[in-house]
Amino acid sequence: MHKTELNIDNLHWILQILQNIEVGLIVFDEHYSVNVWNGFMENHSGISSAKARNKNLFDLLPSLPRSWFEQKAAAVKALGIQAHCNWRQEPHSLLFPHIRPYTAPSELMFQNITLFPLYGATKEIEQVCALIYDVSEEANSLLKLQSLSRTDTLSQLFNRGHWQELFEQEFARCQRYNEDCAVILLDIDHFKRVNDTYGHQVGDQAIKAIAQVIRDSQRETDLCGRYGGEEFVVTMPHTTLESAMAVAERLRAKVEAHQLAIKHEGKPTTLKLTISLGVAAFSHHYKNAAEWLNSADMALYQAKQNGRNQAVQAEQPR
Ligand code: GH3
Ligand code: MG
Ligand code: MG
Repeated sequence: MHKTELNIDNLHWILQILQNIEVGLIVFDEHYSVNVWNGFMENHSGISSAKARNKNLFDLLPSLPRSWFEQKAAAVKALGIQAHCNWRQEPHSLLFPHIRPYTAPSELMFQNITLFPLYGATKEIEQVCALIYDVSEEANSLLKLQSLSRTDTLSQLFNRGHWQELFEQEFARCQRYNEDCAVILLDIDHFKRVNDTYGHQVGDQAIKAIAQVIRDSQRETDLCGRYGGEEFVVTMPHTTLESAMAVAERLRAKVEAHQLAIKHEGKPTTLKLTISLGVAAFSHHYKNAAEWLNSADMALYQAKQNGRNQAVQAEQPR
């Protein structure tokens, strides 16, 4: 084989390389009219290079956020600099579906984009080149890690720290905008007996089952967390005390009706559980989020005192 360098005589090689690399390559002019659209772009957009040529970039990629992209490209043209767009700023700016069959939290491709100027013979900037990198694998593992650090493993609800953070944000929002919001604190009744009679593993199974009931009843805006051992919390934005009491009563009834299939001394049997709930609506009288939650805790205590398996509403502070 000849030893050959890449030079003007074998430009066709360079074109083949650009056509085949696993990076998207687009070249466009000042009117965003496309000149180059490589194989990666063809594969992921489903639009052939012949079809893309001389078409407007934003017509070819309708989900590309126009003003954001124009701003970046304008800086490249005016200043002759490179611009980098990270997937964290605009997670799915081109919105290509994944083609790789791995399970991931997101089905769309995450991309980093680099823009740089292309100079003509007169040293004027003639075109802008965009390189599009598929960073889905890296982005998905980061997102998975972030969600793991917010989630309690046993219940798959928010862990205490994350729930608390959101609750405090909710408190601040209610204070500012004078909105309705309610919180439910609930605790499994006589849970020590469950552990003592059936063992810790069945206890864990019971915690999971209650968490499942909470998840199944959850509305999109509700924030559900595991507050401690067998204590759970639900923040319900835009919800009055009256509606929250209705939700609490439904939860109570669902748990009471539930039959948990367990094994006791090797034999299959069923276990029935009940919960007690304390419900408190936001009030401007609370100085902080902790006072609000404490009020729900006092109502929960009252529910236990009154004989358990019931929901009690907190006294409105004056
Ligand atoms: P009450 O009706 O007054 O709530 O009675 P209780 O027995 O449920 O009392 P309490 O709420 O104080 O009991 C909490 C028990 O939950 C004590 C602890 O052993 C158990 N527990 C806490 N976390 C876990 C857990 O992750 N798994 C299991 N199996 N048990 C737990
Ligand atoms: Mg408890
Ligand atoms: Mg308990």
